[in-house]
Parts: sequence; structure tokens; C-alpha cells
Amino acid sequence: MSASMSDSSPPLSTVAGAASATPPAPPPIDFDAIPRARLPELLRRMPKAELHIHIEGSLEPELMFALAERNHIVLPYADVEALRAAYAFTDLQSFLDLYYAGASVLLREPDYFDMASAYFERAAQDQVRHVEMFFDPQTHTGRGVDMGTVIDGLMRACDRAREQHGISSGLILCFLRHLSEDEALATLQQALPFRHHLLGVGLDSSERGHPPEKFARVFEQAGALGLHRVAHAGEEGPPEYIRSALDVLKAERIDHGVRCLEDPSLVAHLAALGVPLTVCPLSNVRLRVYGDMAQHRLPELLRAGLKVTLNSDDPAYFGGYLNQNFIETFAALPELGARDAYAMARCSFDASFIDADARAAHVAELDRCFRHCAAETKA
Ligand SMILES: [Zn+2]
Repeated sequence: MSASMSDSSPPLSTVAGAASATPPAPPPIDFDAIPRARLPELLRRMPKAELHIHIEGSLEPELMFALAERNHIVLPYADVEALRAAYAFTDLQSFLDLYYAGASVLLREPDYFDMASAYFERAAQDQVRHVEMFFDPQTHTGRGVDMGTVIDGLMRACDRAREQHGISSGLILCFLRHLSEDEALATLQQALPFRHHLLGVGLDSSERGHPPEKFARVFEQAGALGLHRVAHAGEEGPPEYIRSALDVLKAERIDHGVRCLEDPSLVAHLAALGVPLTVCPLSNVRLRVYGDMAQHRLPELLRAGLKVTLNSDDPAYFGGYLNQNFIETFAALPELGARDAYAMARCSFDASFIDADARAAHVAELDRCFRHCAAETKA
């Protein structure tokens, strides 16, 4: 609970005659005044940050075909409908096989710019104010694309998003965990000339059989460079991977992390540390981590006192962008209410790597949004 939500008044200045005493804190937000019927609209319009989006996973079939044509690449699908029909995944690997094939259309700087700009258009519609964007350079450098081509295109889209939509953003370079640590170390070296464009490093791709400790040295080097460190763990992999992401990689956030619930002592550890989990509900259902949305264990994560954000992961492949994740999750899980919506939007800013002033401004906007909704409902 934030200080601004407390109903205790701040201490008045003891300086005689002080006219600039801190104004009393506003009353707490009346979450109970907001009925579930108002939630879809509130979820759509509340400001939020997205901390778990693989930009290559935002490549919609229509743009994939357009880029294939531009770059004279023949895709193994007759048309957009045939490609969409292939999105019937059975697990993480079945998705990854298609994801890497799709990324093959990305060759030149404008391709990366167009892909990221299309994502930012969607993010703006979803009232996303800040994005920490994953990208997989090895998916591109392995095909002969320069690191600079990838980063230049993405950065140009980030700059445009700030100008056109007021969205702030940063890039998180992810290592592909199915490849070797030596390849990850070489990738970090290749990225050094672009260090000033990078917010941090992450770890993604096939989880099973590729524990975090495989990447201990490259994460240590990234930390020495002053880069933030995050890692996918506990999506398909066991809870032990979450522990080693924390202990060995010094991960500041755990991407997914939902399997922590299999180990109560790990849940307590995560809660005590305050390490956020970036949860991706539509992804979890599409990749069969849960049978359907009603079985998602998000409410347990929240009730355990964990810091949780919602995210879209690979929205072009999993059936929706950030607001769709919020709306489908809240529709399927009746125990979630306005207080949970606030908690997750709030956490998206608290768990981000933005500076304190920007965070305070976003939280103030979020508070105004919820107060306004509660007041409207009462009126
Ligand atoms: Zn992911």
C-alpha cells in the first residue's frame, strides 16, 4: 500500500509560521465502489507499463507477408490465413519453431523500425505509457544481419513512439538459452558499441534443459557493465530455475515465474525480496501452461503477496495485446477486482527501470484514473 493511499495525515511542519506545510494526503481510493461491470472500461483506460514483450513476437502475419515481399523471401505459407491456422501450439517449442521462421523476413533497418512502430501503435491504444522491450539479436545476427541494423531500427521506433505517443521505452537484449554461453558472450561483445541504447539483458527461448546457471558468466559481465538483469524462469521450467535466476544471475525481475507456486518456500522468498513476476496470461493459455484462463493461478500469486505485472509476451502469436490480456484475465477470474487491477498497473511502474520522477508521475495519473472511476460510479 502506498503512502498516498494511507488515511493518516502527514506531520505538520513545526517551524513557526510555516505557510508551506505539506497538504494532507488524499483519501484512500475507494476500490469497493467500483463494480465488476466497470472493469473492462477501467482496464482499457488505466495507464500501464509493459515489461515483457518480445518485439519479434509482435510481428503480425500481414506485416510478415509485406516484409517477405519487400525482401524477396518466400514464406512456407500460402497466405495470412494459412499462417494464422498454424498458430495451434502444443507447447513452448512448437511456438518457437514458428517464431524463428517468422523472424526470417527481418533483414534491414526499416524492417525493424516498421515492426516496432506497429507495436507502439497498439501500445498507445492500450494506454501503455512505458515499454521495456525484449529483442533477440541472435535470431538476426545468426542470419547475417548486423547488430547495428537491429538496434538502429528498434531505437528509431522508440524515438518516434516518444515523439508521437509520449511513450518512454528501453531495450533489453535477450540471450537465446538453447544456444551456448560462449555465443551469448560473443553477442554481448557485439552489442558493446550500442551499450548506451541498452537498458538491460534477459534470457529467453527454450527453458527446459537450459537452466539459468548456464549463463552465469555472461550475466556477471552484463552486471559489471551496469546493465539491468532479468530472466525467464518457471514458465515450463521447474521452480529451481527461479531460484538460480535469483541467486546465480542476480535477476531483478522474473519473467513468467508462475511455477513458483509449486514451492511455498520459494513464494515466501520472492515475496520477502519483493522481486516482481512479469506474468503473461494469454501466452500461458496458448502454450498450455494452463488448460484455460479460468485455471490461471494469478489470484494465488496476488494473494501470496507477490508483485505481479500483466504482459503480452508475443502478442501476434498469442491472441492479443496488453489490454486483451487484462480483459480476458479479469473476465475469466471472478475473484479479481478493481483493487487487483490497480495493484498490477501500479506494479508495472514500480517494477520498471524508470527514474523516480517519471514513476511518481505515472502513479499519480493511475491514482487519478481510479479515483475518477470510483467517484463516477458513486455519482
Ligand atoms: Zn517471454
